[in-house]
Amino acid sequence: MTHPITTRMLVKEWQRHGGVAMHQRELRPLGPQDVLVRVRRAAICGTDLHVYGWNDWAARNYRLPIPMGHEMGGEVLAIGAQVSGIEPGMRISAETHIACGHCRQCRANRRHTCLNLKLFSKQGLGCFSDYTVVPASALRRVPDDMPFRDASIMEPLGVGVRAAMEADLRGRNALVTGCGPIGLFTIAAARALGAARVVAADLHDYRRELARALGADTVINPEVEPLAEATLQATGGEGIDVAIDCAGNGRAIQDSLSSLVPGGALILAGLPSGPVALDLAKDVIVREARVQGIFGRLIDETWLATESLLRSGRLKVEPVLTHSFPLDRFEEAFELAESGASGKVMFDMG
Ligand SMILES: [Zn+2]
Ligand SMILES: [Zn+2]
Repeated sequence: MTHPITTRMLVKEWQRHGGVAMHQRELRPLGPQDVLVRVRRAAICGTDLHVYGWNDWAARNYRLPIPMGHEMGGEVLAIGAQVSGIEPGMRISAETHIACGHCRQCRANRRHTCLNLKLFSKQGLGCFSDYTVVPASALRRVPDDMPFRDASIMEPLGVGVRAAMEADLRGRNALVTGCGPIGLFTIAAARALGAARVVAADLHDYRRELARALGADTVINPEVEPLAEATLQATGGEGIDVAIDCAGNGRAIQDSLSSLVPGGALILAGLPSGPVALDLAKDVIVREARVQGIFGRLIDETWLATESLLRSGRLKVEPVLTHSFPLDRFEEAFELAESGASGKVMFDMG
C-alpha cells in the first residue's frame, strides 16, 4: 500500500467530558523508522477514560487535539527504510512505554522507569483508527496464531501479570482489591501462577461476578463485609499472604495491609488520587510486611511471560473481554467503560 492513505480516527478535541470527534484524516508519510499498521482491535484503557472525561490529571498531562488509543492488535502493511525485525504481514501489538535505552535506569535494566520514558498515548499517534503510523520502537511482534483481540490487551494484561509476579503466590493466599480490568487480569494471573486461594473485593456487583468467572474463590463487597474479617473467613482462618491493590482507594489499601499475615506482602498497582495514611508501626514494622509499589511492566520480561501464559491456555482472560463496538459507536463504548458495568471494552475494526 502506498501513501497517502486516509483513515477514520478518533480525536479528543475539546476540554470537557466527551469532546471526541471521528475524522477522516490523511496519515503522515512513513518515515525511515516508521511502520504502517492496519488496526484490527483496539482496547479502551483507564488512561483513555481520564482523557475522555477530561479530569484534572488529563488536563495536566495532555495537549489537545490528540488522536486517542494506545492498546492495539493489528497487522503490518508497510515499513520504513531503516526498520528491521518487523515485516509486512506480521501481527503486532503496541509497546506503550518507549525507553531511551541509555539512561541510568535503562542501564540498570529498569527500562520501565527510564528517565526519558515516552508514552505512546502522548506522541500524537493513536490507534482508535483503521490505520496508524507508529515508530517501530513502539511495536512488538506477536505470534501469528495470537488473535488480534489478545494482541490488543498485551499491555494492560502485562500490568496484571507483573502485579501477580511481584510476590511469590505459589501455594499462598492472595487478595485482589479493585476488579476493574487490571484487577481482573491480576486475578487471572494469580490463578495461572498457582495461588492457593484468590479472594477478590470490589464495590460493583458486575465486577465481582467477573472476578468469580475468572476463578476468584471468594468475592467480597467491602461495603457490606469488613475486609479483614471476610478474608480470614475466606481462607479458613489462615489469612492473606499477598494482597494486591488495583483500586488505588485509601481505605482498600489500609484494609488490605491490616489483612496480611505477619511476613506478608502488599503490592500497590492502583494509583490513589492523594496521600494515604498507613499505620507503619502496627501493620508494617511489627508484622514485617513488605510494601511494594509497581508502575507498569518490566520491559520486556513481563511481555514474554504474558505471551507464554496466554499461549499456554493457563491464563484465562476471555471473561474480562466483555464488550466490542464498531468505531463509529465510540460514544456508547466510552460511556459503558466509564459506567463500571463492563470489563475491557474494545473497538473492532474488522
Ligand atoms: Zn493502557
Ligand atoms: Zn532510559
